[in-house]
Amino acid sequence: MKKLIVITGASSGFGAEMAKIFNADGFPLLLLGRRTEKIEALGLSGEIIIRHADVTDQDELSKVIKEAENVYGPVDLLINNAGVMLLGNIWKQSSSEWQTMLDTNVMGVLNGMQAVLPGMKDRQHGTIINMSSIAGFKAFSNHAAYVASKFGVHGLSETIRQEVSGENVRIMLVAPGAAETELLTHVTDSSALSEYEAWKKSMGGITLDPKHVAETVKFMYDMPQEVNICEIDIAATRQD
Ligand code: NDP
Repeated sequence: MKKLIVITGASSGFGAEMAKIFNADGFPLLLLGRRTEKIEALGLSGEIIIRHADVTDQDELSKVIKEAENVYGPVDLLINNAGVMLLGNIWKQSSSEWQTMLDTNVMGVLNGMQAVLPGMKDRQHGTIINMSSIAGFKAFSNHAAYVASKFGVHGLSETIRQEVSGENVRIMLVAPGAAETELLTHVTDSSALSEYEAWKKSMGGITLDPKHVAETVKFMYDMPQEVNICEIDIAATRQD
């Protein structure tokens, strides 16, 4: 029997593609985001619960996960995908943008992990896949706070992997390169945005198709429980 999968940030980009691919394979899903109408608009059917959850709100996140577990049984895969990237130079960027990135990209991942880890440890079964980035191990200009958040995701994922490996719980990490999603639509610094667009153009304008990231995540999960793919870095062939 297929077990419950929880995906944060399922309303667009990678998360929406993951929702489609796991739905097509018949998994019961809890799909989370703040814009639930966008998740509804994916038009998926089957065993699906769609709920509002801000990943920075630990109580809300835990509550909706418990609700879905009461319907479909224990969560076997949590994909901590929700994230934001607000580009800018730190000497002129508002600290509220750093806070948003750290709260969403780091605290959001920790909140998700805390919500499911006690149950996974008790059951000696379960998988968490955290969404990092190539910016989780490499620097890019205008990305300081984002890079800080994604280096954080790399660090916390490996730490927790070591802590729970003895209890048969898998902690995996996927680190994509540039892809066309809604990620850049929230950037407020137009010069940073122009530099990013110029960088993409320098690589022939070809970025990752979000579908390939979703397929990678599914491949990681589909490995037998005794296999933990600790990290996959995936980028367009032309990305430097
Ligand atoms: P999108 O902007 O398309 O998707 C981001 C998702 O995160 C949305 O579904 C959004 O949902 C959700 N989200 C943002 N903030 C919150 C919050 N506080 N609470 C709950 N959900 C939230 O971008 P991507 O699909 O590209 O991004 C997905 C992940 O992939 C992110 O972690 C990003 O850092 C990472 N990534 C992206 C790359 C790219 O080039 N696109 C490259 C490498 C990594 P809603 O607004 O409805 O809440």
